[in-house]
Amino acid sequence: ASPPPRLPLLVLVAAPRGFCAGVDRAIRIVELAIEQYGAPVYVRHEIVHNAHVVATLRDKGAVFVETLDHVPDGVPVVFSAHGVPKAVPHKAAQRGLHFVDATCPLVSKVHRQAERHAAADRHIIFVGHRGHPEVIGTLGQVAEGSMTLVETLDDVAALEIEDPDNLAFLTQTTLSVSDTAAIVAALRARFPAIVGPRGEDICYATSNRQEATLAIASQCDAVIVIGAPNSSNSLRLVEVAERDGVPARLVEGPHGVDFDWLEGVATLGITAGASAPEILVRGVIDRLATRYDITEQTVETARENMVFKLPKELQQTADDKS
Ligand code: SF4
Repeated sequence: ASPPPRLPLLVLVAAPRGFCAGVDRAIRIVELAIEQYGAPVYVRHEIVHNAHVVATLRDKGAVFVETLDHVPDGVPVVFSAHGVPKAVPHKAAQRGLHFVDATCPLVSKVHRQAERHAAADRHIIFVGHRGHPEVIGTLGQVAEGSMTLVETLDDVAALEIEDPDNLAFLTQTTLSVSDTAAIVAALRARFPAIVGPRGEDICYATSNRQEATLAIASQCDAVIVIGAPNSSNSLRLVEVAERDGVPARLVEGPHGVDFDWLEGVATLGITAGASAPEILVRGVIDRLATRYDITEQTVETARENMVFKLPKELQQTADDKS
């Protein structure tokens, strides 16, 4: 019997997608640290939220741990792109550990704003997702009690603030642009004197990926987002598509493709979170090509050329390589 006919599938690939400048830099920091100091190099928390990236770096000599307690004396340790509470570098210094900070500069910027508000005695409302490492890191920039986390509009309505004239807000970098705009508007309405960034602290990569996903969603029957289940910005991309009325799924890589779910889909959107490498995008499309005749089109809504400087101590090794 001849094999069943292959169905055509139009694949719209969002651009920008995948790695952002902060993720790129964090991965390079681990690679360069291994080269410069020799393996093993310890990394506190997943350097970025992606199992493929973590496994690749592990093969090169990185050891991933969740706390400094698991870092032996005398080995270098890298802090992940999400940032860490101040207590972490403090503790590392106390132990005499050599640490390299791979916190994304856009997260560090929020940390500095938190310090400035605290120095001005302003109480800070932080918009973010409880438990995310970036949120833990940002809350840990100031003394306990100086920052209140809000996740929803209900949280804003329930806020009890002693001195509303001395109030500031900051946000996580990887939030939903539309949800955050609503929360910031509610904060400004309840506390007219609140100070904060002009819009919010959502980073360029997060907003660009959401915009690109929105641009393809309306033309698609379904959207696949490539990313990890603990990747905040990837989860937001699934929401963006779903809110546009399009079924969307988060898949970690080629093996996450569910052909039953794709039944009846003629146009499929594909995008990837900021910590998902392009090799996984290609892998997903290759897997689709085992069943479909694919026509691939890229839909570009923005060009990115952001590059962040490496820490000084690794620059020479980077220069030698290039
Ligand atoms: Fe930095 Fe944004 Fe990338 Fe996070 S998603 S690492 S904040 S550029």
